[in-house]
Amino acid sequence: MRDLKLAAKRSRKKTIFNIRGHMIGQDFIVIAGPCSVESEEQTLRIARAVKNAGADMLRGGAFKPRTSPYSFQGLGLKGLKILQAARDETGLPVVSEVLDPRDAAWMSEYVDVLQIGTRNMQNFSLLKEVGKLKTPVLLKRGMNSTLAEWLNCAEYILSEGNPHVILCERGIRTFETYSRNTLDLTAVPAVKELTHLPIIVDPAHATGRVSLIEPMCLAAVASGSDGLILEVHDHPELALSDRDQALTPDHFLRINQKISALRQFMGTMGDIHTFKNYTLGKSG
Ligand code: PEP
Ligand code: MN
Repeated sequence: MRDLKLAAKRSRKKTIFNIRGHMIGQDFIVIAGPCSVESEEQTLRIARAVKNAGADMLRGGAFKPRTSPYSFQGLGLKGLKILQAARDETGLPVVSEVLDPRDAAWMSEYVDVLQIGTRNMQNFSLLKEVGKLKTPVLLKRGMNSTLAEWLNCAEYILSEGNPHVILCERGIRTFETYSRNTLDLTAVPAVKELTHLPIIVDPAHATGRVSLIEPMCLAAVASGSDGLILEVHDHPELALSDRDQALTPDHFLRINQKISALRQFMGTMGDIHTFKNYTLGKSG
């Protein structure tokens, strides 16, 4: 990985940046929300619920990269306006996926973080386009990508002038079929050896099964992750995408409480310095 000029750890100290009061790379960040923005009511309900359960940011796809062209493709601009309404009400910064280089600049007016999905990790035109913006980028690991390939994609963004990159381990393809992907938690400490960029973990897309998410959240915390991104739906059985990996708000709250306890314990061991307490909110 000698070709990494800007992403390599040797080039600078840990990257920390502010997104509406949240210090990425310093605070532990929990991003939660539906896989897809389905309607204004659905998104506002879930936004309130995840906020009450301790989320720091709201996720929601307005442009969906679906395996089948006949599956729900997202609400597009209407979805982004709904996310803005949810941010206005809850104060939660919003994260949403950009699929097309032509959409990056105008979408950045609507979101606080532009997500690049696993299927687009090596879409170099898209990487260059988000690199020209100031909006932070959540760069998911390609499902078939090595750490070197992934970090080179981060380098594309940094080299265009945007230093605000968050890496996200979301599971890789292996021979195993029980889980949707295989969560490569080795990537977390390995990436921290190689780069100064923050890294978060997505146990939802990594496992594809609600029953596996909570233990993988705790394992991600123990691995040193800078945060988590999770899918939450108040009616998982009705979700228009990824219903098998959608947590209920109550389950999400419980996970947050366990994360808080684990981080507190890790703090006493001298590994980390900050932790949060979560309490059951009114619509949690
Ligand atoms: C998503 O976050 O909804 C998504 C499509 O993620 P990934 O690109 O990791 O599959
Ligand atoms: Mn999803």
